[in-house]
Amino acid sequence: MPSECLPACSLCCRYVAIPIDPPTTRSSIEQMRWMVSHKDVWLYADDEGEWFVQFITPCEELDLVRNRCGIYEDRFSVCRLHGVASCEATLGEGTEARFFRSLREFDAYLESRRARRAG
Ligand code: SF4
Ligand code: SF4
Repeated sequence: MPSECLPACSLCCRYVAIPIDPPTTRSSIEQMRWMVSHKDVWLYADDEGEWFVQFITPCEELDLVRNRCGIYEDRFSVCRLHGVASCEATLGEGTEARFFRSLREFDAYLESRRARRAG
């Protein structure tokens, strides 16, 4: 949540995203299928092809009424580094080319990838 944020925006304070192995092995695919089977656990790949698991849950330091950081001066370094130029409010939430909110969506991606490779 940088100081130049859009008014009352707190999109980036409402989830945790962790880098994960790409879906290139049977075990990583199975682990990703398991993760995305959980409510409010999503998968996506960024423009550089890095994969992430995203947990949709707000930061406890977010003032949910005012949509403001409650520890702004002491916020975490990851919060300080998050740039408005490339954030989800600017680019659009969930607009990554590969973004999966359910097992059904992820399985459809795996199936189309299989078909592409076979064809
Ligand atoms: S999503 Fe962007 S505009 Fe919104 S709070 Fe985060 S950095 Fe600011
Ligand atoms: S510490 Fe503040 S800026 Fe960082 S995620 Fe929490 S509410 Fe947002």
